[in-house]
Amino acid sequence: MSGATRVLVVEDEEPIRMALVDALVHEGYQVLEAADGDRGLELALRDAPDIVLLDLMLPGRDGFSVLRALRQDRLQSVVIVLSARGEEWDRVQGFEYGADDYVVKPFSMRELLGRMRALLRRAEGSAPGLEGDARRVRIGAATVDFAAYCVERNGAREGLSRREMELLRHFLAHEGEALERIDILDAVWGRDEDPSTRTIDMHVLKLRRKIEPDPERPRFLLTVHGKGYRFSRRGEGDAG
Ligand code: CA
Repeated sequence: MSGATRVLVVEDEEPIRMALVDALVHEGYQVLEAADGDRGLELALRDAPDIVLLDLMLPGRDGFSVLRALRQDRLQSVVIVLSARGEEWDRVQGFEYGADDYVVKPFSMRELLGRMRALLRRAEGSAPGLEGDARRVRIGAATVDFAAYCVERNGAREGLSRREMELLRHFLAHEGEALERIDILDAVWGRDEDPSTRTIDMHVLKLRRKIEPDPERPRFLLTVHGKGYRFSRRGEGDAG
């Protein structure tokens, strides 16, 4: 499924928790937060977030106990342990309990975000709507590399934002369908966010500049007047 990626932050130290939440929201993630282990476990089981950032030393139920309970409940969320230097963090034990990765505090936000993206790519496996586990998709003269978050065209590479990539995945998964802006918003931005439909138009413009031979006369990402957009990988001449 596309839609905003949901992250649960379980961290009792408020400054760290707030910094994490701010950075994640800024990156476009949908964020839940808990200041202790019991609340963290409750939210994780209730909402099945895509990623859990889990501190170990927590009031009440500690991180290890939360992790064990999550996996006993067969929760598939990616779990990254936030471990403080000098804490009783045993890598092997952590991975046995079902942690996917860990970072040692103080960590750089950039490093954490990079780990998160890598783990999400692994968890997603392939882009929805694509054959097999295709990570690279040709659209006309452009090749979209979903693993590398970029578009290659005429030997040049251009980066794709996470949102542009999710939008493109959504179009690929619904190839040939006339999609309404509001449905695209729901699927790609999620119901809890409230961007205007203009947000989509702006992202479509950006995508067109990256994949269309002539962005002014789109062949792949077509406007459906009065409705929204239709995507065709074969290319259908300009939208008129
Ligand atoms: Ca702590």
